[in-house]
Amino acid sequence: MLDTFDLTDPLARGLVQHARALGEALAGFDGDQDDADDLIALVATLEDLKCRAEGAQVVASAAFDAAQRAEQAAAGVPVERQGQGVGLQVALARRESHHRGQRHLGLARTLVGELPCTLQALRAGRISEWRATLVARETACLLREHRAEVDQRLGDDDLHSWGERELLGELRRIAYRLDAESVVSRRRHAESERTVSLRPAPDTMTYLTALLPVAEGVGAYAALTRAADTARADGDERSRGQVMADLLVTRVLSQPDGGRPQIPVTVNVVVSDQVLLGAGDGDTGGSAEVDGYGPVPGSLARDLTTAGPEVAVAIRRLYARPAEGGLVAMDSRARCFPAGLAELIRLRDRTCRTPWCDAPIRHTDHVRPVADAGFTTATNGQGLCEACNYAKQAPGWTQQVVDGLRHEVITATPTGQTYRSAAPPCPRPAAVTESPADRRYELSQRCDLSRRAGSPLEMALARHLHAA
Ligand SMILES: [Zn+2]
Repeated sequence: MLDTFDLTDPLARGLVQHARALGEALAGFDGDQDDADDLIALVATLEDLKCRAEGAQVVASAAFDAAQRAEQAAAGVPVERQGQGVGLQVALARRESHHRGQRHLGLARTLVGELPCTLQALRAGRISEWRATLVARETACLLREHRAEVDQRLGDDDLHSWGERELLGELRRIAYRLDAESVVSRRRHAESERTVSLRPAPDTMTYLTALLPVAEGVGAYAALTRAADTARADGDERSRGQVMADLLVTRVLSQPDGGRPQIPVTVNVVVSDQVLLGAGDGDTGGSAEVDGYGPVPGSLARDLTTAGPEVAVAIRRLYARPAEGGLVAMDSRARCFPAGLAELIRLRDRTCRTPWCDAPIRHTDHVRPVADAGFTTATNGQGLCEACNYAKQAPGWTQQVVDGLRHEVITATPTGQTYRSAAPPCPRPAAVTESPADRRYELSQRCDLSRRAGSPLEMALARHLHAA
C-alpha cells in the first residue's frame, strides 16, 4: 500500500491525520505503568517507525521537488534555475538549516532515482536515514550503473546488521574495485573542500578548526609540537599545549614567537550601557555578546572594552537599548554609512536570518525589495547566507517586517507556509540594586569614561550618568 502513497489520494490524506494522532498519543506517554518487556519492545518499535517515517519523508521530498520544478517550468523559469528554493522549503518544513535541507533533498533524489534497494530498506524500517546517507555519500563518485550495482550487492542483511565502520569499509572497497579512477578524483575534490571554521567552546573559549589534506594537517601539527618542545627545553614554563596554541595564533597573525599573542583585529562586542559602566558586580553584572562567539559575562566585556593600547585590542562597542535589548547604535568608529549599516545588521542578526539556518551572513538583503519600494534601512535589512538569499529569488517567496520591539521578519514560501524569524535578543543590562548616590560614587571611582579615549556616545553616556 505504501508503494502507491500519493497525497491526492483520500487514503493518504487519512494517513497524514493518523500520523498526527499517533504523534499526539506518543506525547502523552509517560511509561510509569508499563513493565520492562513492554518498554523495551516499544523502544524497538518506535525505532522502526522512525526509520519508516524518514523513508516516507524521502519519498515526499522527491515528489515535492518534482512538483515544484514542474510548476516553475510552467511559470517560464529557465531550466538552470528550476529547483531553486526547494531545498530551503524542505529545510524549513524539517526545522533544519538550509544546508541540511539541501542535503536531505539531494539524498531523496538519489535514493528515489538511483538506490532503490537502499530506499526499500529504509522504508521497511530496517535502516535509518543516516545509514542510507552513508550509502549515497560513499557511492556519489561512481557512475550511475556502478552505483546501481553497489545498491543491489549490499543485501539487506549487510546494510541492517553491520557496524557503521564495517559498512563504510565495504562501500569503499566495492567502489575502488568498480572504479578506482573516480576514487582518486574524489580525493582531489575533497582537497578542494579544505577550510577553517570557528565554533564556541565552554568557559569563554573557542575551537578554531582546520579541515586539511592529511599531509598538510599532520605536517602543521608536527611543526607546532616540535617548536613547543624546543621552547620548553629552553625553559618556557607554559605547558606544551599552551605553547602550541600561542604559536598557532602568533604565526597566523604574523607576530613574533615566544609570548602570548596580541589581537590586532577588531572584536565586536555588543553590550548595554549599564553593563559597560559596571552596573553590577562580577559575573552577576549582566552579559554581553562577542560577535562570532556568543554571550560572555559582563565583567569580561568590561575588561575587553576598557583594555589599554598596550593590549593592542581594537574593540568596537555596540549598545543595546536597556528596556528591550534591541540594538540601537554603533560606535562612531564605523567607517562609512553603507558599510556601517551592513555591519550593524550583521551584528544584530549574527547568523543567517532564515529559521534554523546557522550559516554565516554573506549578504545584506532588503526584506522588501528595492524594486518594490523597499528602503535601505536597518529595519528593512536582514543578514542572509548566500544560499538562502538565492533560494528566495525563486518565484512565490514573499517577506515582510513585523512591527515590534525586536526586529522580526515573516517569510511565506511558494506553497503558503509561513515562518517567523526574530533577531536574537541583545544582552540584557545588569539589574541595578544600589542607590543613585552609591551608583554615582562607584562610577566616579572606577568608570570615568570621559577620561578614556571612548567614543562620543560613551562620553555622552558617562556625562549623563554623572549628572543624574
Ligand atoms: Zn541561510
